[in-house]
Amino acid sequence: MTQASTSSRAFVSLIGAGPGDPGLLTLRGQHALQNADVVLFDYLANPELLRWCPDAHTIYVGKKGFSEYITQEQINALIVNTAQQNGGQRVARLKGGDVFVFGRGGEEAEACAHAGVGFEIVPGVTSAIAAPAYAGIPVTHRDVARSFAVLTGNTREGGAHYERLSGVDTLLLLMGVRNLDTIAAELIASGRDPQTPAATVQWGSTHQQRVATGTLETIAQAVKDAGLEAPAVTVVGEVVKLRDKLRWFDNAPTFGGPLSGKTVAVTRTRDGSSALSDVLRARGASVLEVPLIRFEAASDGGGAALNVLRDFRGWLLLTSNQAVTALFSLLDGAELDARALAHVRIAAVGPSTARSLAERGLRADFVPSTPGARHLGAELPADGGEATLHLTSQLAEDELQRALEAHGIGYTRAELYRTEAAAPDENRLERLKNAAVLTLASGSAARHLAKLADADFNPLNMPVAVMGPQTADAAREAGFTRVTVAETASLEALADAAERAVRGE
Ligand code: SAH
Repeated sequence: MTQASTSSRAFVSLIGAGPGDPGLLTLRGQHALQNADVVLFDYLANPELLRWCPDAHTIYVGKKGFSEYITQEQINALIVNTAQQNGGQRVARLKGGDVFVFGRGGEEAEACAHAGVGFEIVPGVTSAIAAPAYAGIPVTHRDVARSFAVLTGNTREGGAHYERLSGVDTLLLLMGVRNLDTIAAELIASGRDPQTPAATVQWGSTHQQRVATGTLETIAQAVKDAGLEAPAVTVVGEVVKLRDKLRWFDNAPTFGGPLSGKTVAVTRTRDGSSALSDVLRARGASVLEVPLIRFEAASDGGGAALNVLRDFRGWLLLTSNQAVTALFSLLDGAELDARALAHVRIAAVGPSTARSLAERGLRADFVPSTPGARHLGAELPADGGEATLHLTSQLAEDELQRALEAHGIGYTRAELYRTEAAAPDENRLERLKNAAVLTLASGSAARHLAKLADADFNPLNMPVAVMGPQTADAAREAGFTRVTVAETASLEALADAAERAVRGE
């Protein structure tokens, strides 16, 4: 059955983004992001989640408190209109925490229903429960709390009827930092013991998490003294005492390191591996993946590369993970597989490329002692009688060729894939400007990034961390002035370099 309706694709996913830790997005939320044409997100939804939708158009709606930037009515209209544009689009609306716990998700769903736009609700992990959990506070506990209530301190959202809450053991207060003194006083006036333990958790589940503790009587002052602000959840109840025993997140060794809470921009290709991002996240960094380059098929579809490869006997040189990926998709496209490589010996530029080969069941015959094209060329155990074939991108540099020819070894190159520039969109550019450090994956990433320099943003002054001396040279040549090089060729060493760069060493 075909659908004639122009808005056949119009669909809205209202997604709970979770409280901040990007790992708390649900799988359904991830899938909806992956399928989105357009993503609308606000300040409570961690922008790191946008890594699931690198090709989607992203729209930022709302700084703290919707009204400062765009009204709720405008957001409702924007959601509906965006879904109906361009013959119907898939819209992912990312909302902090859960969709239907405050934050007006119900109204956004109603707007879709009213306009006849299909929608789904993808519930999320609410900060009301998760922020306390990351502070080591369970909202219920068999011995001390059998019920909890979630309330808002924002009178615009309805306010609370404190006297009706007298039988509830744990109170979870959202949007209540600013009015905390008034709210605490009203709770005491309505009969709650002033000595009830209380804690306020700011930016729960993120590496900016901060916690103040006290009693119902003292918490407002404690929050002021600590300088805590929105977004924060305040927990009132005996369960707060359990933090002494159950504190786990904000005293873990990974919490509060040099990268903790800092934005680290990782230049990468759209389909490249995000292993580095995982290493950085484990150190508490908020990772911004900046796709500066993207890979495309060779201009002739790889026909020439395939032809040379067919009759080639000698050393096949692979100088990136992408070369391995592209080689296998080329073989696959020609209905071939790894057996087509049986008659060549394979040299990988470094351990990472060798690993990509190993993942496809191939052992590299040679890997230089130090990764890099220069070393590959100098160390390759070939003699003058052997030929080399370098399958690479149209941007390959001449270093490898020069090093080989210096040893009298013949060199042939064929285009296996193309590297094209991809400029980051507005939102990513904005975050990039505020990044504490930048990691450069390659010389071409350095050159692409240098081109982004304009009147109000000069990436060349940012501290950058790079994996190897060659990328460092390329970065300096491109104009970067603050380059830190990893001590060894590993992701952990690169993360160490990023830490040194942040500390200004
Ligand atoms: N739908 C959201 C709540 C939106 S109302 C949810 O389910 O979590 C906005 C309020 O949520 C903030 O004022 C703050 O009280 C709370 N909040 C959201 N994220 C938070 C976080 N990471 N840490 C502490 N409080 C948070």
